[in-house]
Amino acid sequence: MQRGGERPPGPPARTNGPTDLGAAARALEALLPPLRFAVKDGFAGADRLKAFGDTVRGAVARARAFGAADSPALRELQEVAGAFDAAPGPDRRRALVRMAALLGALIPIPQELREIAAKARLAPRTPTAKPAPQPEPQPAPEPDPEPEAEAQVHPDHHGSAGAQEKPGAGAGSFTGAAPIAPGDRAARRRLLQTRLADLPRAHPAPRALLEERGRTTVEAALEFWPKAYQDRTTVRSIRDLRLGDEASVLAKVVATRTQRMRNGRPLLKVTVAEGEGGALGSALELVFFNPPPWRLKSFAKGDSLLASGKITEGFGGRRQMSQPEVEKVQPGDSASFGRIVPFYVGPADHQHPALRKLMKRLCDELAPLATDELPPAVRARRGLLGRGDALQQVHFPPAGTDPVQAAARASPAFRRLIFEELFFLQLVLARRRQGVRAAEGIAFDVSPAARARAVAPLPFALTGAQQRVLSEIALDMGRPEPMNRLLQGDVGSGKTAVAFAAMMLAVHSGWQAALMVPTEILAEQHARTLAGWLAGSGVEVARVVAAARGKEQREARAAVAEGRARIAVGTHALLEEAVGFEKLGLVVVDEQHRFGVLQRAQLIAKGRRPDVLVMTATPIPRTLALAFYGDLDHSKIDELPPGRTPVATKLYGDSRRKAAYDLAREELERGRQVYVVYPLVEESEKSDLADATSGAEELARVFAGRAVGLLHGRMKAEEKRAVMDRFRAGALDVLVATTVIEVGVDVPNATVMIVEHAERFGLSQLHQLRGRVGRGAAKSHCLLIAHFRRAGDDARERLRAMEETQDGFELARVDLRIRGPGELVGTQQSGQRLLEVADLYRDEAILEEAREEARALLEEDPALERPEHAATREALAERWAGRLSIAQVG
Ligand code: ADP
Ligand code: MG
Repeated sequence: MQRGGERPPGPPARTNGPTDLGAAARALEALLPPLRFAVKDGFAGADRLKAFGDTVRGAVARARAFGAADSPALRELQEVAGAFDAAPGPDRRRALVRMAALLGALIPIPQELREIAAKARLAPRTPTAKPAPQPEPQPAPEPDPEPEAEAQVHPDHHGSAGAQEKPGAGAGSFTGAAPIAPGDRAARRRLLQTRLADLPRAHPAPRALLEERGRTTVEAALEFWPKAYQDRTTVRSIRDLRLGDEASVLAKVVATRTQRMRNGRPLLKVTVAEGEGGALGSALELVFFNPPPWRLKSFAKGDSLLASGKITEGFGGRRQMSQPEVEKVQPGDSASFGRIVPFYVGPADHQHPALRKLMKRLCDELAPLATDELPPAVRARRGLLGRGDALQQVHFPPAGTDPVQAAARASPAFRRLIFEELFFLQLVLARRRQGVRAAEGIAFDVSPAARARAVAPLPFALTGAQQRVLSEIALDMGRPEPMNRLLQGDVGSGKTAVAFAAMMLAVHSGWQAALMVPTEILAEQHARTLAGWLAGSGVEVARVVAAARGKEQREARAAVAEGRARIAVGTHALLEEAVGFEKLGLVVVDEQHRFGVLQRAQLIAKGRRPDVLVMTATPIPRTLALAFYGDLDHSKIDELPPGRTPVATKLYGDSRRKAAYDLAREELERGRQVYVVYPLVEESEKSDLADATSGAEELARVFAGRAVGLLHGRMKAEEKRAVMDRFRAGALDVLVATTVIEVGVDVPNATVMIVEHAERFGLSQLHQLRGRVGRGAAKSHCLLIAHFRRAGDDARERLRAMEETQDGFELARVDLRIRGPGELVGTQQSGQRLLEVADLYRDEAILEEAREEARALLEEDPALERPEHAATREALAERWAGRLSIAQVG
C-alpha cells in the first residue's frame, strides 16, 4: 500500500511533527482501504491482495515508531500478518477477519469491517462503534506546538500497562518498539543519523551501494533522490495483452534459449508464463538482442520476473517482448511491483530490487521520524507535504503520480523538499542580514550639494540608469547602518563612474575609499582614470599592487596609511596586513565573482563597519541573485551610455579563420585596433593548441606591416603595463593576449575582438571579452574561432547563444542552464554542493515563495523564539547554517 495514495488529494498533509499518536493511527488507517477491498463481495479480493502481510507489518512498525503503546492487539496483528502472504485461500480469509477485529481494537473501523469482525465473534471490546469516528485529542506529555490530532490510537483494552511491556525490537523493524516521546526531536534526529552499518537486518549489498556513494546514514540514504520512476501499479495478465501494448507482466521463467543472429551475435529468448506450469495461452517470449555476457546466464527456470516493454509479434504469430526491462522479483516484493517504483543513478538494473527493498524499509519505518522543520503555518499556506511524507513519496510515489513529472522533480514530494532547501537558504541569508542591519555604521553626507560635488569631476553626464543607481547608493550611505549593496551592470554600462561618485561622497565626508579589482592591469587603468578625473582637485589616488615592491609601492602604502591618499585602488594586495588605512569608510569591490567571500571580509575589516558596494558585470540572473545574495540590496544599471553600437558577433570554423583575418584587416585599414585572445599561455608538446606566443608570431605575418604586441600572464607587471600603454596610445595595432585582458580594459578605438579556441571559454568570459569592443561609436566585431571537432554540445550551445544575443542577462540564463550555478558565483573551489535538490533555473517560482516566507517569518519572529518555530531554529543551526555559509556576501 502506498501512503498518501488513499488520502484525499490536496494540502496540507499532516504527519510527523509531534502529533505522534495521530500519525500512528494514520499508519494503521492506511490498512483499511485494502482490507475493505479484500473482504468485499464475500472476500472476492482476498486472493488478489499482493504482499498485504508486508504492508501490515510495515504499518505496525510505523505505529510503534510513533509511540503507539505496544499491546497484545498490535503484536497479534504483526503475527497474523507474518503468515498472511504465503497462506492459502481459506486461511487468508480467516486472517483478514482477525485483522479487522484487531484493527478495530486499535482504531475506529468502518461499519462493514465491524460487521465481519462481529460475525466471527471477535468484535472489538473497545467501544469504537460511534456513527462517525471523531478525533479525540489526547493529552501529550509535552506542550504540543501543533495541536491537531486527526485520530488517535485507542488505549488497548488490556490497559496502558502494555506500554512498558516490550521494549525489544519488533520483528522486521529497524527501529524496534521503543516509542519515542512526541516532540523529542533529538531522539528522532539520532535515529535518522543511525549509520546504515548499525541497522539490524539491512541487506549488505544495497547497503554497500549506498555507502559507496557516501550515503552512510539513514538520512543521507533517504536523500539519495531517484532519477526516474516506472509505473508498475497494475501488472497485466499475459492473457490480456494485445500487440502494441506497453505493459508490465509478472511471470515465471519456463525456458531459456540462446541463438546466434546472422551477424554472429547472440540472441537470448526467455519464455515466461504465468501461474503454475504456465498454460499455453499465457506464455510470452522475452527477446534480448546481443545481451551482455552476464545476462546470458542470468535467468534460471522458475525465476519470477517482472518484465516491462512493448508487445510485438514474433515468429509464428507468437507474442513477444523485445528488449524488455526485466527484474527478478520475489513474489512478495512490494517494493518493486504493484506500485510506482524508483530508479537511482548508479546501481545497475539488477541491483535495484534489493536497493528498493532497503529503501522501502527506511521509508516505512524511519522516514516518518523526520521532524518537520518548516514552520507549520508555512507548510499549510504553501500546501506542502510533511517532511516524512515527502521523503517517503519521493522514493515511492503514491498511485496516480505521473512518473515523468516526478522524474522532472515536479511531484508534490519533490516540491516540498525543494521548498525546504530554498527556504533555509533564504533564512540563512536573511538572518545574516539582520546582523548587518543591527550594527552601527557611518552616515555620510549625501545632501544634494554633496551629490552634485561628487559627480562634478566626471567628463560626461550620467545616464538615467546611473543616476537612479547612484541615488539608491546615496540613500544607503546617508543612513547610519552599514550599506551592503550589489551593483549589477552589463559590461560597459559605466559602473566605474558610479563607483567614483560613491567614493567621492565618502571622501567629501572625510573618509577614505578603497576600490579592489582583480588584476593589476585593471588597477592601473582605474587608478589612471580616477586620477584623470580628479586632476587639479587635490584628491590623491594611490595604486596598491603586489608587484613593483620598490619605492613607489612603499610610498603608495604610506600615503594610504597616513591618509594623504583618500582613494586607494588596488588588487588583492590591498588585503595585505601591512596595508592600513587612516579612516576607511567605503569599500568597493569590482568584478566581485573573482574574489572569495573571505577576501572581501578581510578588506572590510580594515575599517570600522565601512559601507560596502559590490559590483559585478557577470549578469546574475534573478534566481541566482536571490539564492546567493538573498536580501542583499540590489541596484542594476540597465542602460548603456549613449553612442554605443551593437557588436556583430560571428562564429568561424577553424578552417575559415582567413575570413576573420580579412575582416580584421579592413578595420585596421580604417585606423582601428584589434584584440586577439588565446586560451593558453605556453606551448605544450601534448597539446596542439595554438598559444599566444606562437600566435603572435603568426599574426605578425598575417598582418604584415602592422605593429603586433603580446600580453600574457607570465610577464612582469611593468612589461604588461608597458604593452598596455602602447596599445592604449595606438602604438600597437594588434594586441595578442591571453585572458588577462578579459576584465574591464577600456580602449574605445579597438573595434575587433578575435577569440581563438572560443569553444574553450565559458559564456561569461566570452561576453566579457566581447565587452572590450563596441566602446566607441564605431561599429565593432566579435569573431569567434572555434574548433568544432573538439567542442562538446555545451560549447556549441554557448557559441550559438553568443551569436544570437548581446543581452548579458539572457546569456547568464543560458549559462545557468548549461553549467549550473556553481561557477557563476565562483563557489566551485569550495567543493561544496550548495543545492542538493533544488535547481535555480527550474525552481524559480518556488524560490520566490520560499523567500517571501523566510522574510515574513523573521519579521514575525526575528529570533525564532516561539515554540512553533523551535524545530526551524534548531534545523537552521544544526543542519543548514554550515552547509549554506558559502552563500555569504560582505
Ligand atoms: P563597466 O560597467 O564595464 O565597468 P565602465 O565603467 O568601464 O563600464 O564604462 C565603460 C565606458 O563608458 C568608459 O569608457 C566610460 O568612461 C564610459 N562611460 C561611462 N558612463 C558614461 C556616460 N554616462 N556617458 C558617456 N560615457 C560613459
Ligand atoms: Mg568595469
